[in-house]
Amino acid sequence: MPRVPPDHPVKQLRHNSPGKAAAEKKGTLAFCGTCGRYWDDGIATSMTPVPAGRCPFEYYHPKPQERPRRNSSRFLEGANR
Ligand SMILES: [Zn+2]
Repeated sequence: MPRVPPDHPVKQLRHNSPGKAAAEKKGTLAFCGTCGRYWDDGIATSMTPVPAGRCPFEYYHPKPQERPRRNSSRFLEGANR
């Protein structure tokens, strides 16, 4: 997975970091299920707060080609019916 550069506008919160605990307390802790990164959605930047279901680190997500291709097998299953 690509690394987030240190000058990214949104600060990534590490596990057990004081920032993550503080955001959790405020109720503004956000989590991305795709990359597993945490951030404080309560801190306004050029990218946050993010719309629901979005991630400020999307650019640094694993590339879709690195994931297994499910669509092709689903297409074949449908064709056999
Ligand atoms: Zn993400």
